[in-house]
Amino acid sequence: MAIALISLILIIILVLIAVKIGLNRDRLTDEPVERPTIHTSGIYSIVRESPRRNILAYKPPKEDILQYLDGLNVDMKGSPLSASEKSGIIERWYKSIEENITAIEKGDGEGIEFYYYEFLPVDCPVCMRHFSRGTFVTREEIYYYPSVIPPLHLGCTCKILPHHGKENLRETTELGMLPLFRSKVPPPLPNWKSIIKPEPV
Ligand SMILES: [Zn+2]
Repeated sequence: MAIALISLILIIILVLIAVKIGLNRDRLTDEPVERPTIHTSGIYSIVRESPRRNILAYKPPKEDILQYLDGLNVDMKGSPLSASEKSGIIERWYKSIEENITAIEKGDGEGIEFYYYEFLPVDCPVCMRHFSRGTFVTREEIYYYPSVIPPLHLGCTCKILPHHGKENLRETTELGMLPLFRSKVPPPLPNWKSIIKPEPV
């Protein structure tokens, strides 16, 4: 009788242990599993969103540009601005936005991680007060701060180009490419109202 009782107690204990193991296993499978790769690819897909959708939120409205140029007769150095030069500035402004967004979209298709600033076809005297040719930004920085996408001000000749790792960065190759961001936020960039007429080609 005593043996039968002990056996029964043992069986009950074993059943309880088995049930507990089963419960733990269920709980384990119910818990969300950390999946770093999926998490990473989630960020990746966000970072690759085209800036086309929201770029204009980071640029002054066209009315403001027209109004500002309307009341402006000289650039920051006092060189007179003619009506045709002003309309050329507006035309270049929107053309430049389109070119830079297209460059990023194309770069996204090629998985580009780094972009660098270039002044084309002539140097941009305003931007060169802030950074030099070959200064780079990451795709992630562009995503979080679309304000770094050129043109950075009226009359800007700055462009953002994908860095494939084989471009000749001219003088910057000796110094190494410098990052635009020295912290988590972008450095001060030119005010959009800054105009210095670029030297003719
Ligand atoms: Zn510029």
